[in-house]
Amino acid sequence: MGNSFDLIAIGAGSGGISVAERAAQYGARCAVVEHSKLGGTCVNVGCVPKKVMWNAASVAHALQDATGYGFDVAVKGLDWETLVEKRERYISGINDWYGTYLKDFNIELLRGKARFAEPHCIEVDGERYSADHIVVATGGFPAVPDVPGAEHGITSDGFFALQTQPRRVAVVGAGYIAVELAGLLNCLGSEVTMLLRRDHFLGSFDVMLREHLMEEMLNSGVNIMPQVNIERVDRSDDGSLTLHCQSGVTLKNFDTLIWAIGRTPATADLNLAAAGVEVRDDGVIPTDEFQNTNVPGIYAVGDITGRAPLTPVAIAAARRLGDRLFNNQPERRLEYENIPTVVFSHPPIGTVGLSEDEARAMHGDAVKVYSTQFTNMYHVLTEHKPQTAMKLVTVGAEERVVGCHIIGLGADEMLQGFAVAIKMGATKTQFDNTVAIHPSSAEELVTMR
Ligand code: FAD
Ligand code: NDP
Repeated sequence: MGNSFDLIAIGAGSGGISVAERAAQYGARCAVVEHSKLGGTCVNVGCVPKKVMWNAASVAHALQDATGYGFDVAVKGLDWETLVEKRERYISGINDWYGTYLKDFNIELLRGKARFAEPHCIEVDGERYSADHIVVATGGFPAVPDVPGAEHGITSDGFFALQTQPRRVAVVGAGYIAVELAGLLNCLGSEVTMLLRRDHFLGSFDVMLREHLMEEMLNSGVNIMPQVNIERVDRSDDGSLTLHCQSGVTLKNFDTLIWAIGRTPATADLNLAAAGVEVRDDGVIPTDEFQNTNVPGIYAVGDITGRAPLTPVAIAAARRLGDRLFNNQPERRLEYENIPTVVFSHPPIGTVGLSEDEARAMHGDAVKVYSTQFTNMYHVLTEHKPQTAMKLVTVGAEERVVGCHIIGLGADEMLQGFAVAIKMGATKTQFDNTVAIHPSSAEELVTMR
């Protein structure tokens, strides 16, 4: 049967491609439906282009630091157009690679928008396809607030479409995307104002991380305004944007406004009712620990499930689902605890496990915390001296490490190995028994008193 499959994944992003690939490896006949570019958010408007821009911002920092090391450097500026052109060429190569990859695994690519017709049957461009197993992996899209003039702003998608460097930017939001875009734009030479509706950003992160990052961003020239709620946006004849705040304050002369206030799950167009799949009011598809929806044979993975919306999480959940369905591993599932994550801010944050506040709420007086703050040796000779800060959160007499929080140069690359140790249940004594690597920043994590 040409239109009948063992598994159909809706969405060719991190989750959809991964589940189809894993299932196909076990001999399942698979299809993936996609109406846009292969690779989904991460590849096209997420992790990948963001990391390229973050790398560019890190180069800008290195150029500033070079004089501290005795280099006579004359920087003539950034050619934004070239940077964007090279970045997009790189991404286009990944898109092509995914096309070949799907073919190599004999995964059929169905081009178009999928919607359910029946529980085990979807429709793509008027054609019907059925499968025993259907995986919803449609991700999400950036949210825009419901205020007059909101359309004058862009989102992270629009940021990646910018062909010229914005000069005076307002970034509204308080999550990963807001701090990452504000940070990299500032490093690349734009004038950046962050507008927070509360006092802090990164509200769910350990307090040390968010306070330290705020201090470093302020020191490096980002203007951060707390308690700002925008009620209207106007565009003037000269193209500049004016933001009217609830407090009565007016903020003027921005050329770019970026909304970074969260993402909305892409479920509205799926006709989930035809399949009887439960969906929450906010668009999230609830799943159990095995990625099952309420309908047998229909699953959801990735951002659409509202749990830890990160690429490696979507991939890991999807691969485990493939193992469970097609390789006779009935208990195979992703454990959602101790997921390490990096915020590509300047300086970067690496964090895994419980924050100090979470640990104290769960374990009370059994919590013991170790922390340190220092200047990375790299910055001994540089003019700008951002601090590195680290915290280990331990629990119980054996001092099991339940949280590791790092902000500073290299935190992004430092965390992965420590996440393995924490996943294995390492104690503070085991950290201390590990011989340090010197001179490095990471050595502080095994020498903390
Ligand atoms: P997606 O990758 O969004 O894929 C969903 C796919 O489904 C899309 O291709 C979409 O076009 C398609 N689709 C939707 N509806 C339909 C339909 N009806 N029919 C057919 N196709 C459909 N995560 C990290 O781990 N590290 C990072 O550094 C990082 N940086 C990020 C930066 C930004 C700016 C953003 C926005 C996100 C970032 N993320 C990062 C998050 C990461 O991109 C997501 O967690 C990940 O892409 C989720 O994968 P997914 O498979 O759930 O969905
Ligand atoms: P987040 O959910 O991380 O943050 C959005 C924040 O914006 C909210 O927490 C809220 O903070 C604030 N906010 C919400 N509504 C408004 C509003 N109307 N006005 C002002 N502020 C508002 O969303 P992001 O869009 O930043 O990122 C989405 C997800 O993508 C992240 O959660 C992350 O999982 C993933 N991602 C991962 C990255 C990485 O791994 N490095 C990078 C980028 C994204 P508050 O309530 O405090 O005001």
